[in-house]
Amino acid sequence: MSTRPGAMLGLLGGGQLGRMFTMAAQSLGYSVTVLDPEERSPAGSIAERHLRADYLDREALNELASTCAGVTTEFENVPAEALKVLAERCIVSPAAESVAIAQDRILEKNFLAANGFGVAPYAMIQNARTSQHSANSDGVLPQKQPQLSPDLFPGILKVSRFGYDGKGQVRVSNASELDSAFAGLNGESCVLEKLLPLEREVSVIVSRGFDGEVVTFPVSENQHCNGILDISIVPARVSPEIARNACDIAIRIAEKLDYRGVLCVEFFVLADGRLLVNEIAPRPHNSGHYSINACVTSQFEQQVRILCGMPLGSTSMHGAAVMVNLLGDLWQKGEPEWEQVLRHPDVKLHLYGKRDARPGRKMGHYTILAETTDAALRLALEIKQSLQPSHGTLETHEPPRNESRN
Ligand code: ADP
Ligand code: MG
Repeated sequence: MSTRPGAMLGLLGGGQLGRMFTMAAQSLGYSVTVLDPEERSPAGSIAERHLRADYLDREALNELASTCAGVTTEFENVPAEALKVLAERCIVSPAAESVAIAQDRILEKNFLAANGFGVAPYAMIQNARTSQHSANSDGVLPQKQPQLSPDLFPGILKVSRFGYDGKGQVRVSNASELDSAFAGLNGESCVLEKLLPLEREVSVIVSRGFDGEVVTFPVSENQHCNGILDISIVPARVSPEIARNACDIAIRIAEKLDYRGVLCVEFFVLADGRLLVNEIAPRPHNSGHYSINACVTSQFEQQVRILCGMPLGSTSMHGAAVMVNLLGDLWQKGEPEWEQVLRHPDVKLHLYGKRDARPGRKMGHYTILAETTDAALRLALEIKQSLQPSHGTLETHEPPRNESRN
């Protein structure tokens, strides 16, 4: 049974991904209710309704379930419990079970490894290795950490939950650095991953409907700066075989999860062409923003179509594209000069309506459309340069944790 245009759709989270979902839903004739605790949010300010409450607020969840035909989410740290409660009363995409795996690095890595998907060598770090010989107050010896393979060094220690944009990650070169890094992360469960020499990073957005119909978007090549996505180049500059392989793996992951919705799979490409899965995100992704202007159907429209039980759209591209993120750092000297972007007729500017421009905060993006990735990349870099505040030093503030919206 499909949900016809005119219906109300529910959205957990009010960030920029939710704003772009809301726009796609509205252009298909749907209305949107956003549940987000913040007073002002990118999606909350354009949706028909904004319920300002916690994600686990029973009354708000009741209101969503009784007024919305279906509910989706725009950030992965939404409590899986909220999705579970909603699923008893309305259509939910994606399901709590898939979100629970993707929001916990340990569950995610174990799921991927157990199903034969290549991942970087890793180990779970769940208790302090340095205290393993000292008894606790009950006189019980803490569980011993299994011996770590020296092959895991140099490595990256990553918190299992709530890390994003490179936050909650520490590079460590030996066991003693690991111990102090783990202590510095307040004893939270972590994954230690071997630091790999990456040829490049790519991602695939895959959409899978309730009837099992599955479609991938063109492979995106992603370059990061300080752990935050900086630019995406599409199609990725990899061999057709690697591109096919990446799409194939993304589809198999979606199928193994019995996933219903839009999913992003991030990959590492090694020098020998091998693909390892870095992580998965149970929602549209920053590396898929190019699809708004460069594809027949965007990742957000696909999310709407799936939630409403409608057929999926074509993901074919009009040409090549490069997407560049706009971080708050650019606002150091005030509002950037948008004419520098808009004077190029084949460039599309997107701003998320956020008032506070903090360094590292995602404020918007622009997408260059061109015949070749080389041409798009050249223009992207030229515009990037022209937007730089002429002087001044970069401050680095930690954005608040609820900014976890890629
Ligand atoms: P986040 O949730 O912050 O996106 P990721 O695990 O994707 O965390 O790590 C952010 C970035 O750090 C990656 O995109 C990659 O550039 C780098 N990185 C992460 N893990 C590794 C690794 N094992 N080897 C090399 N680089 C890595
Ligand atoms: Mg990542």
